[in-house]
Amino acid sequence: MVFFLTIFPLVGIVGTSFYIYFYGVVWQEPILLLSFWFISGMGITMGYHRLFSHKSYQTNVFLEWVLMIFGSLALENTILKWSSDHRKHHNKPESEDDPYSITKGFWYAHIGWVVENTDEEKNKIMGVKDLEKKSAVRFQSKYYLYIAVVFGFIVPFLIGLSYGRPIGAVLWGSFLRITLVHHATFFINSLCHYVGRRTYDLESTARDSWFMSLFTFGEGYHNYHHKFPSDFRNGISWFAFDPSKWFINILSFTGITKNLRRTKEYLIFKSKFESIHKSMNTILFSIDESHKSFYDEKIKTLIQSANEIINAWKESDKIMSDMSTFKQYKSELKKIYKDLKKISKNLKKESLVLSS
Ligand SMILES: [Zn+2]
Ligand SMILES: [Zn+2]
Repeated sequence: MVFFLTIFPLVGIVGTSFYIYFYGVVWQEPILLLSFWFISGMGITMGYHRLFSHKSYQTNVFLEWVLMIFGSLALENTILKWSSDHRKHHNKPESEDDPYSITKGFWYAHIGWVVENTDEEKNKIMGVKDLEKKSAVRFQSKYYLYIAVVFGFIVPFLIGLSYGRPIGAVLWGSFLRITLVHHATFFINSLCHYVGRRTYDLESTARDSWFMSLFTFGEGYHNYHHKFPSDFRNGISWFAFDPSKWFINILSFTGITKNLRRTKEYLIFKSKFESIHKSMNTILFSIDESHKSFYDEKIKTLIQSANEIINAWKESDKIMSDMSTFKQYKSELKKIYKDLKKISKNLKKESLVLSS
């Protein structure tokens, strides 16, 4: 494993640089890189992650096979091993059983866990019996390396052969592309547990980063994802860059994908209010009593109003009230959240002044 994870970036970056120096670049090569990056990346996010590991939507056998082949191109092991590790990561985050626990450090969560020798018991594939029933998964388990080599190396080689530069095609479309896919995925386990906002769960190490989403087909919204792992979306706002969500959604109009799992909106609001409340409480501890009681009262009143609206929303949801009711709840909650954010900002300033 160490060998492969060294050879790919080495050949991908150094080899491609030398190739460019001696033979230049033709337009087909960056296109090959981008298209194979897109295909293999989506195979991981839309396939391995959201379909197989989390079952956040359903699809037909044909798309399962397509996503299995696309995901195999990323060379990130089989669906069974990937999903087994990933389900452990979600079920027992930051514990001894989390295969890429951030508590063991940035480097370990990024790549160390793949290259270090993990004991056999921990490496075992478990908790994926449901996936073993799928024909695409069973086929992949038997012929994983053949699929990866044929589609990941031979196909780019043949494409390159068609315009007379097969070596360049393999350097761009296989080695450099695999390096990018690998490290983009690794960054979700490392960087996305390190930098970014914790809007939905303050206690999780997972964080939301729109920047990381640009390279990971939407997986940068990791705090939301850890809070609501079975949601087919990671970036929930309409402007959040989450191509995996867009594709799953578009395909649902044709019936190819179905039963898309969306977290109820009032639950999302609930998590946001809980998170901001906790973060403000920690600041309140650090300021003096007179300021503390002033802010505390304001915060409590707002949180109480928010909870009342959330409970009313929950009740109306059961009896399927009309859309205008939900819209009203939403706008009221948005306003309260905005007010809380303002207070939070002032509190931070205040605690800085007092501590200086
Ligand atoms: Zn994570
Ligand atoms: Zn996940």
